Amino acid sequence: MPDPVVTVHDFTKRYGDFTAVDDISFEVHQGEVFALLGPNGAGKTTTLECLEGLRKPDGGVLSVMGVDPTREPRRLRNLIGVQLQTSGMPDNITVREAMNLFSAYHRVAPRLDLLDRVGLDGKLSTQYEALSAGQKRRLQLALAVAHNPPVVILDEPTAGLDVQSRVELHSLISELQGQGVTIILSSHDMAEVEKLANRIAILLHGRIVAAGSPRELTTHGAGLTKISIQTERATVSELTTLPGVTQRSARDGYDIYYSTDPAATVLTLLEHVKKYGDTLIDLRVERPSLEERFLEITGGKEAIS
Ligand code: ATP
Repeated sequence: MPDPVVTVHDFTKRYGDFTAVDDISFEVHQGEVFALLGPNGAGKTTTLECLEGLRKPDGGVLSVMGVDPTREPRRLRNLIGVQLQTSGMPDNITVREAMNLFSAYHRVAPRLDLLDRVGLDGKLSTQYEALSAGQKRRLQLALAVAHNPPVVILDEPTAGLDVQSRVELHSLISELQGQGVTIILSSHDMAEVEKLANRIAILLHGRIVAAGSPRELTTHGAGLTKISIQTERATVSELTTLPGVTQRSARDGYDIYYSTDPAATVLTLLEHVKKYGDTLIDLRVERPSLEERFLEITGGKEAIS
């Protein structure tokens, strides 16, 4: 396997006595989308900011294409593109001026095509403060990638965006990945991460508590299958024990079971429906979602929106 593009090895960051990131390690390879997930305060932004050279680690080694972000900030700046959580953009700068400024900083021609690509071609003379939240995020992403950086770091790239804007940004991120760009992002949006990321690290209290592809993360863990059933007379609710079932709940007219032996559970449920002359309305057998797995790993420390 070729050398990783980004290496984080035994990385620790403290704020005073408080350890925000506690000895974490991960590697990201070229063309991968790597996601950091975790509840508020888990250490995601701190990790990204150290990779961006904005903060100095207290321990460990960070490297972006062989460059130490704190020691060699000048070399780093053309290697990475950064879309920050808060932009720090002057309120009265126009979209065109912002692109000119960022392009001049990186010594590349202004990328009006990118503004077009993110749907801001009609807003070139609009001041930053007059852009909607979604338009600001799109502009920030366009500015982050205007100099064609091989690595892009995105801190909650679609936070607060409507569905349409989110889908558009997802397609832009996938397009960048298709061009071989390596992307590291943090997000609270499980569907987004499940869709975009090749690999995920779940952070909790500054430590990586689980890592792997979305599929690996959802198939490991308790190994439970979710079975949801709805019948006309809800006779299955009477069943007190079911083979393989370790947890049960009810929601929106469904009885929901988490089972280690889904075939036996489903068979017993269907036999019961038949025996009592009930009618099956819906039956779903699903692998737990990333969201459910995340809640299992983090102990439900976050209400996911
Ligand atoms: P969120 O999802 O809310 O953005 P996060 O996972 O990005 O959270 P960080 O912003 O990295 O978390 O913060 C990690 C921890 O470090 C938090 O407990 C936070 O309060 C603390 N922290 C972050 N920045 C500072 C700072 N400048 N000074 C002191 N503590 C800080």
